[in-house]
Amino acid sequence: MKNVVEIFDDLFLVKQDMRPGWYYSVFVVFGENNIGIIDTGFENTLVDYVLPLLQGKGRNLCDVDLIVNTHRDGDHIKGNDVFKEKTGASIVAHSLAAEAIPSLDKTMEEGDVMKLGDRLFKVIHTPGHRPGAVCMLDEEHKVIITGDSVCGEKEDLIRMDKNIYIESLRRLLELDVDIMIMSHPFKPAGKNILKGDEIGEMIRASIGIAERL
Ligand SMILES: [Zn+2]
Repeated sequence: MKNVVEIFDDLFLVKQDMRPGWYYSVFVVFGENNIGIIDTGFENTLVDYVLPLLQGKGRNLCDVDLIVNTHRDGDHIKGNDVFKEKTGASIVAHSLAAEAIPSLDKTMEEGDVMKLGDRLFKVIHTPGHRPGAVCMLDEEHKVIITGDSVCGEKEDLIRMDKNIYIESLRRLLELDVDIMIMSHPFKPAGKNILKGDEIGEMIRASIGIAERL
């Protein structure tokens, strides 16, 4: 299916193009009885991009029970209202993002574990881009979804004290992960699904860029 990347047989990335060479991402986690979503894109994302994937798997919108926003920015939350209306799912984000996301139902904190599909994702609070930015870590499968928390050459996205950003990235370097997925194809990686050594390279490059600011 166009714009859909299968990362595991239960974890899919849905890409929506913004302009040539740039896209944003929604993650769909299929469980036996439920479906989890990470980030909601824009107003048309559910109907135009996510629904065809669900239908292709014989699943229904009402299977979606939990939605996590990695942070408050428009390209990650503008689909919240449509998702909520059509699925009835609860929407969760870090407590420091709550004020900026009116559609939230619950808040989460560092170390909380969220069940998305049949996977457990631990909340890793990574301020730097935004105070309430998080990464979602599936420890069992060694997968981390970083949103915009690692933003490489897009240093204008470091909206907080750069040392806070650098500290968050150093924490990410300590984690044992095989796959890191960012919301956008940040450079120098230039793609958003990174594996093995590419992960440390991208995080270290991002730290270096911030240090030179
Ligand atoms: Zn973004």
